Amino acid sequence: TLVLGIETSCDETSAAVVENGEILRSNVISSQMEVHRKFGGVVPEVASRRHVERITDVIQQALDQAGVKQSELSALAVTQGPGLVGALLIGVAAAKAMAFAAGLPLVGVHHIAGHIYASHLVKPLRFPLVALVVSGGHTELIYMPGHNRFERLGKTRDDAAGEAFDKVARVLELPYPGGPEIDRLAREGRPSIDLPRAWLEPDSLDFSFSGLKSAVINHLHNAKQRGTTVQRADLAASFQESVVEVLTEKSIRAVKSKGVDHLVLAGGVSANSALRSALSERCRKEGIRLSVPPIELCTDNAAMIAAAGTFRYLDREFAGLDMNAEPNLKLV
Ligand code: ATP
Ligand code: MG
Ligand code: FE
Repeated sequence: TLVLGIETSCDETSAAVVENGEILRSNVISSQMEVHRKFGGVVPEVASRRHVERITDVIQQALDQAGVKQSELSALAVTQGPGLVGALLIGVAAAKAMAFAAGLPLVGVHHIAGHIYASHLVKPLRFPLVALVVSGGHTELIYMPGHNRFERLGKTRDDAAGEAFDKVARVLELPYPGGPEIDRLAREGRPSIDLPRAWLEPDSLDFSFSGLKSAVINHLHNAKQRGTTVQRADLAASFQESVVEVLTEKSIRAVKSKGVDHLVLAGGVSANSALRSALSERCRKEGIRLSVPPIELCTDNAAMIAAAGTFRYLDREFAGLDMNAEPNLKLV
């Protein structure tokens, strides 16, 4: 099975070819990060325009690098949502045009399902499993009894983890996107500043990061009023430690509550070095098998969409040529 994946939900234009849902044949990513950096965040209109300019070339490169002809493909998989509607539309329109012209089956993929399947490209997912999804727009614990089946165990009640990283980075005057910047700065500091952990109700698998964000802002504000200097690296390390501790603890609780032995880390924040090491240490102690995507598959890419799409294709979950981009598409 050869599936071409297309991803344009946010600010990377990406196309990839994946064989049998697990062998990465090509993964072309054209990032717009530099374009959006000067605005301190993604500007939707600019993103759409960029996708239009890049999409045809990116798809061709993905086929060329894989050494695959369009006629050899089994299906096309495209991110249907969630994401920026104008950005999603470019990928969906490209996929539909190609499906029509080449007479290929088409499948729509949920972007978060894609993030979870990034790990499948390294080592096959073993079900049942629990996935911790931590990205720019999502923080969720998902239970998967098998391919294509998702059950939500918990979610954020306010900011997503990546969003918290980006917002805290902004108050620390670090460039966009803030996650990797905090990761780097935190390595130069110590987690010496006392910041809150949002455990919520005793059995809750939900998350909350807005209180932590406010605590960071208050810390900076108070220091300014007292005229004391803030050790930015210590503040970054303390913030990161709070996030990582809650994410790790709740993931382990979720795994135990479902009686599974496989945890999958997914989404852009899974690139975070402190989260990766805390989870791998905890999982080793608890005898839990942990899947962590390689750094280049943590953030948005089409390979993960092609992988997830392959299993929708095998389940015959086809989309028609009337498929529409769904900016608020639900996973469950
Ligand atoms: P979603 O997947 O929810 O639609 P998105 O696609 O915008 O959102 P991703 O591309 O999955 O998000 O991830 C981007 C996020 O990951 C950003 O918030 C970024 O700051 C964060 N991130 C990337 N690398 C790191 C890191 N090393 N440490 C912490 N956060 C990181
Ligand atoms: Mg991005
Ligand atoms: Fe994403």
